[in-house]
Amino acid sequence: MKTWDIIIVGGGPGGSMAAKVAAEKGLKTVFFERGRKSGEKNSSGCGLGPRLWRDFPEMMKRLTPEVAPSMRPGIMARNYFINKDDEVVGMVMARPTESVQYEPAKSWITMNCYRSDFDPWMASLAIEAGAEQITSTLIIDLIKDDRGKVIGVQDENGQKYGASIVIGADGALSMVAQKSGLRHKWQLSQITLVPQYDFYVPRENIDKIMGDETLAVWWGSTFPAAYQVFFAEGMHLGLGNWLNWWDKNPLYYLNRVVNLPYFQRLMKLLEAKPRELQSHLLPWMAYPENTYTDNVMLIGDAGGFPCPLEAEGIYPAIVTGKIAAEVAAQAISDGDTSKGALKAYEEGWKKSSVGIEFEAGPELQHIWSRLPFEPKTMEWFVPMMMELLGGIYDWSEPHAVRVRNILEAVRGYLPKAIPFIMQEVIPLLSKVLKEDFENFTKLSEFIPKLLPKKK
Ligand SMILES: Cc1cc2nc3c(=O)[nH]c(=O)nc-3n(C[C@H](O)[C@H](O)[C@H](O)COP(=O)(O)OP(=O)(O)OC[C@H]3O[C@@H](n4cnc5c(N)ncnc54)[C@H](O)[C@@H]3O)c2cc1C
Repeated sequence: MKTWDIIIVGGGPGGSMAAKVAAEKGLKTVFFERGRKSGEKNSSGCGLGPRLWRDFPEMMKRLTPEVAPSMRPGIMARNYFINKDDEVVGMVMARPTESVQYEPAKSWITMNCYRSDFDPWMASLAIEAGAEQITSTLIIDLIKDDRGKVIGVQDENGQKYGASIVIGADGALSMVAQKSGLRHKWQLSQITLVPQYDFYVPRENIDKIMGDETLAVWWGSTFPAAYQVFFAEGMHLGLGNWLNWWDKNPLYYLNRVVNLPYFQRLMKLLEAKPRELQSHLLPWMAYPENTYTDNVMLIGDAGGFPCPLEAEGIYPAIVTGKIAAEVAAQAISDGDTSKGALKAYEEGWKKSSVGIEFEAGPELQHIWSRLPFEPKTMEWFVPMMMELLGGIYDWSEPHAVRVRNILEAVRGYLPKAIPFIMQEVIPLLSKVLKEDFENFTKLSEFIPKLLPKKK
């Protein structure tokens, strides 16, 4: 059996980063990819978060349109609010605000780039660092010694490969997670199904018609919130929800967005042509569980690391890949790859930006599932928001009368809004601000702290 220091199963962003760092640390490294190349088999679209440029500046400055022609920054986000009659009843646009701390986060929200560009580029960095990539190879099992410790992997042709450490970077349906005993199966409330359409859109039409508005969220009252992302010459429209949510074929909901008269007009204007229908699984958890054991670590989607609020998953995969490779290098050099030694991996990701994201993981995940992903809530939330945002522009009465009307209308929504605020918003605020707002005295003491300080 051919052996390496470390085997990484999966050549997505997490696996390539782990392979790059492991090779840089001097480990004899191999990473496997079931596709003919990285980026062939997984989600074909993505928005890269600006934390990648903050945390990996040398690497990210090499990502240019020459190596990734599909790149287009998502500068402004359109938020469309849709009522239960499928009418767009309001829109809010947002670009990065003044409190954002660093470039490029000040300039754009996401850098949009097809995965068929991004993943091979990431893999090339790992190969350049000295890692070996074996493609067109599906790993189907872990090899264990007689004490049950993982000592390698096996591919679908029975070929065996040995290593002291195996990293599971094999995405949502991680074989490594299951065969190592770290996870049996996802619970239905931990994993989402995301169908999306990929459209061809002429580059000049996006420039001319969308300008900076290259991201959008469609907040629906008849479908879970849908995202729209523009690339250099294309566009995605998709939506998702947890597996325990769907009561109909998910395509029924996606097609409701496509069939909105507003969306249809936009497609006509853009001359958008459907190119592909895709469907993916995406773990979306309150908190990552069981991410390491003897000789094994799970990174990225395999470990359940996408952000609990919006499921940004590429940055977490890259960060956890780096931490796992660093811990592996230390463990191999110390001659101890046991669970005790690999606990440093969990300590590392908990301290990182990824771990901080999960500080309020259950509350963030919950509010997302109850608001944008729950059309029943959106059914009252959308008209209530629109009363507040749009009602004042109404000329049907003197404005003073309109203000009184609006407050009256909003009061009508309070029987639904107040329980929502108590069950979702207050626990989230309590966790994020580390205050016990469920105790009302604490809340009333906190509100004056928001006022400007006297000089
Ligand atoms: C529709 C959709 C849209 C998304 N949009 C965004 C976004 O805008 N921004 C963002 O940050 N995140 C986004 N995500 C999440 C993001 O795609 C994932 O979190 C990210 O890809 C995780 O990276 P990874 O390296 O852990 O796993 P993956 O990207 O899934 O990579 C796993 C790799 O391993 C290979 N593989 C799997 N099993 C085996 C095996 N047994 N043997 C060999 N190879 C194997 C696969 O072919 C794949 O290349 C989105 C997800 C979906 C589904």
